[in-house]
Amino acid sequence: VGTLMAGKRGLVMGVANDRSIAWGIARAVAAQGGQVALTYQGDALEKRVRPLAEGIGSRHVLPCDVTDDASVDAAFAALREDWGGLDFLVHAIGFADKQFLRGRYLDTPRDAFLQALDISCYSFVSVCQRAVPLMRPGGSLLTMSYLGAERVTPHYNVMGVAKAALEASVRYLAADLGTAGIRVNAISAGPIKTLAASGIGDFRYILKWNQLNAPLRRNVTIEDVGGAGLYLLSDLGSGVTGEVHHVDCGYHVVGMKNPDAPDI
Ligand code: NAD
Repeated sequence: VGTLMAGKRGLVMGVANDRSIAWGIARAVAAQGGQVALTYQGDALEKRVRPLAEGIGSRHVLPCDVTDDASVDAAFAALREDWGGLDFLVHAIGFADKQFLRGRYLDTPRDAFLQALDISCYSFVSVCQRAVPLMRPGGSLLTMSYLGAERVTPHYNVMGVAKAALEASVRYLAADLGTAGIRVNAISAGPIKTLAASGIGDFRYILKWNQLNAPLRRNVTIEDVGGAGLYLLSDLGSGVTGEVHHVDCGYHVVGMKNPDAPDI
């Protein structure tokens, strides 16, 4: 066990199962001595999340649906009550109706747009509002993005627009919170086979394409993302804020197909 996160306490939001990116980060933080609280969305996920929480010695497993302000308030109230403070927060939450994660972005209806932006972007602002009063200088807030925020990637559609808004939020929040010594960053992860990703049209093709064309010629794992998360959440990242850090085996630097890649 390392000690990079010794004495630090934080909330990781977005564990659905042991393939979740949030779980990769939670495990990496716990392995460095950090104390982790987890939230889960809805009763169906509780039975998945509780055993995971036990495995990392987490004493707080709280329900939280970010579309319900009362449940967000209750989760933070519970942490304030028991811990009094918070050193870090991980927001690894996103949602869009999968009906619109295929076909044309042009066809996105207003209700699907607003829901995707609410859950995938505004919820980060909402949880930061509650986390910041519990934080001292040195606090670190982290969210999760994807390349589809910057460039058109197939089927990502309204989620790409939501992630663009999320990345802009990171910059504005970083500016708001810098004088309090609180940092705000995002990780832009390469594609990983998770529950959320399974809603994206043709996701297997996207995974294969990235594997064949990324400089490292593989896909990232939740351990890769966990390591980068640790850097941004710990004091190793003390000079970094407002950043969108790519953890994608280098895929974002590539401009054309790898000429040696087979057809898929
Ligand atoms: P996941 O399905 O394991 O996690 C998504 C989480 O969002 C789940 O825990 C789900 O319960 C939660 N969630 C959805 N709606 C919610 C709500 N209303 N209230 C509270 N929680 C809610 O999938 P993941 O891929 O680990 O996703 C985590 C984050 O990483 C998301 O923001 C996703 O967009 C982002 N991301 C994923 C990939 C990928 O390829 N998997 C790549 C880049 C970024």
